[in-house]
Amino acid sequence: MKRLLRAEILRLVGCVLLGALLGYCWDRPALGAAGALLLLLGRHIWQLQRLVRWLQAPDDAPPEAKRLWGEVFDGIYHYQRRQKADQNQLAQLLERIQNSSQALSDGVVMIDHKGDLEWWNHAAEKLLGLSPSSDRGQPITYLLRNPQFVDYYDSQNYLEPLVLPSHLDEERFLEYQITLFGENDRLLLVRDCSKIKRLERMRQDFIANVSHELRTPLTVLSGYLETFSDYADELPAQWQRGLALMTQQSTRMEHLVADLLALSRLETSDFKAEVEPIHIAELLDAIRVDALALSDHQHTILIHADMQLYLRGAAHELRSAFSNLVFNAVKYTPQGSTIELRWYHDEDGAYLEVKDNGPGIDSKHLKFLTQRFYRVDGSRSSQTGGTGLGLAIVKHVLLRHQGRLKISSSAEQGSCFTCCFPLSQTLLGEAV
Ligand code: ADP
Repeated sequence: MKRLLRAEILRLVGCVLLGALLGYCWDRPALGAAGALLLLLGRHIWQLQRLVRWLQAPDDAPPEAKRLWGEVFDGIYHYQRRQKADQNQLAQLLERIQNSSQALSDGVVMIDHKGDLEWWNHAAEKLLGLSPSSDRGQPITYLLRNPQFVDYYDSQNYLEPLVLPSHLDEERFLEYQITLFGENDRLLLVRDCSKIKRLERMRQDFIANVSHELRTPLTVLSGYLETFSDYADELPAQWQRGLALMTQQSTRMEHLVADLLALSRLETSDFKAEVEPIHIAELLDAIRVDALALSDHQHTILIHADMQLYLRGAAHELRSAFSNLVFNAVKYTPQGSTIELRWYHDEDGAYLEVKDNGPGIDSKHLKFLTQRFYRVDGSRSSQTGGTGLGLAIVKHVLLRHQGRLKISSSAEQGSCFTCCFPLSQTLLGEAV
């Protein structure tokens, strides 16, 4: 290119000199040089015009030209071909993506930044009953009107999917998962999870039924064991030990069945958020009395509670959750330990904190603690009569009250279990 430019400049200088020489013959060298320049300019304008005409019809072959203009036409021509090839490739890729999305069994819906439907695949058409002729461009919340979906859509918090009964068929369950992309555009994935839901329901029903059926024989066994225990002194020594063990294990089983029933009630019953505000400070006082009885007054339990702060919810559920935490603090800390209960709020939420100065829990266990039957130390827990279900119950109760459980603990440092609630779930004294 540099070479061509240099040649073009030389040609310009040569033409001007030649023009000046010709002009010199008529005693007008300047006029001759200007004429030569004009001729050159005219030629460039003509080439420019050919370029413009060609760009207006880019499918035609490029104009024929030599030297610098030839290079310009060639350059543009190759650039255009590359562009066209890239465009074709992109169009093919887009078609492949659309075809593969169409083949998915899960529904895919693209929603623009205004919340209007842009594109969807066949599965979405079937799952959501969308019609390509009338629904394109409609707001998604106009087609999926369930208030829970609208809240989920507006929340912009899409970490967890939302499961709802299908609006087309109550027997079916759909899982919605939204992902944000581009400038506030959304991709909605819809999956039919009816089978998983049915299995989950069967599991819940099975546990509830088994626990229920176990209750009667267990009550009979415990009743007889209690009667036998009254005459334990008259039994031979090795029978006495057996009787004590049987009594201990039947009590454990009773706790287990009670906890399993409590869990399945929490899982299966619909939560009717009670409007009655609960005075948590009073509730903590009552729990403290029970916890001191459990500890045989060998622990110190301190309460710092905001007397004006109420929590909306189901009193018996909250009592069971908070008692679980306080009883754990008693069970898993040695005699003489101090347990602090705090109930307070800040600008982000309200918190019920149960803190102890016991042996603590190694951090590697923390994320598993709320799983059913998970215990840090099986032998220690069975000594304490634990079932491994307590924290699972706490987690479920909190979920039903829009809350969550935060656990911080480390070996030898004591543990702190915090129930966090949104402020919307609370009321201040004057408002009660
Ligand atoms: P469990 O019925 O066995 O008490 P939980 O679900 O209530 O079951 O607790 C799970 C495990 O967490 C317990 O087995 C225990 O090892 C541990 N844990 C709970 N609370 C505490 C605490 N305050 N200090 C130490 N360990 C605890």
